[in-house]
Amino acid sequence: MAVSSGVRRHVRLALIAIGLAVASVIGIACGSAAFLDFGSTVARSQGAGLSESEWWHFSRREVFGGVRYTSTVMVRAIGYKETADRLPLPSWVVLPQPQATGKWLTNDHYEIAEARGWPWPCMSYRFSGRGRATARSGEVTGGIAMQPWNTAAWYSPRVLPYSPIWRTIFADLAVHWMIWVALMVAVIDGRRAIRRWRDQCPKCGYSLRGGEHRQCPECGEALA
Ligand SMILES: [Zn+2]
Repeated sequence: MAVSSGVRRHVRLALIAIGLAVASVIGIACGSAAFLDFGSTVARSQGAGLSESEWWHFSRREVFGGVRYTSTVMVRAIGYKETADRLPLPSWVVLPQPQATGKWLTNDHYEIAEARGWPWPCMSYRFSGRGRATARSGEVTGGIAMQPWNTAAWYSPRVLPYSPIWRTIFADLAVHWMIWVALMVAVIDGRRAIRRWRDQCPKCGYSLRGGEHRQCPECGEALA
C-alpha cells in the first residue's frame, strides 16, 4: 500500500515535470526571440571575395537562448583578405550561396537563419532579404514576424520562430525535465525538513508538540 502510493506520487511528479518542461522550453525560446536582440557583437565571421568589387560576409551572432547566422554581400574594401577559416554550420542552417554580379549595389543578397531555445536552439525561422531595401522586401518563413529590432542597413527582424529542430527540441526537453524534477524534489524535501524542525508531521504538517508519537495521529505517517 505504502509502496504503491509512493510510486504513484513519483509518476505524478514525473508527469507534471513533462508539462512544465514543455512550457519552459517554449517559454524561453519565445522570450529570447521577443526580448533579446543580437546587437552588433559578432561571435564568429567569415569573409570571401565574390568578385573584385563584392565581398561575401558570413557571421554568427549569439545571445542568451539564441543564435543567428547572417549571410550578406557588401562592397569589397581594399584591405579585405580571404581567410581559410570556414564557419562551421549546424544542419538547420540552409542558406543560398550568393551569386557574383560584378556590381555590388545590384547584388540583393541578405539572408538570415536564426534559432532560439536553451540550452540548445530548437525553434528556427528563415529570413530572405533583398539588399538595400531589406526592410520592405524581406520575407520571413517558419516564424511570426513582429516589429523589427532595427530597420537600418543591417536590418534585424524580430520573429517568433516555430520551425522545430527536432533533435535539439528533445535534448532541451530532457534537460528542462531534469531541472524541474530536481526543483520539485528540493521543494518537497525542504518542506518536510521545515515541518520536522517545527515539531510537525513532515507529511501533513499536523502539530506533534507536547507528546511522543510513533505515528502521526492525523495521517498515520511513521515517525522515526
Ligand atoms: Zn501527518
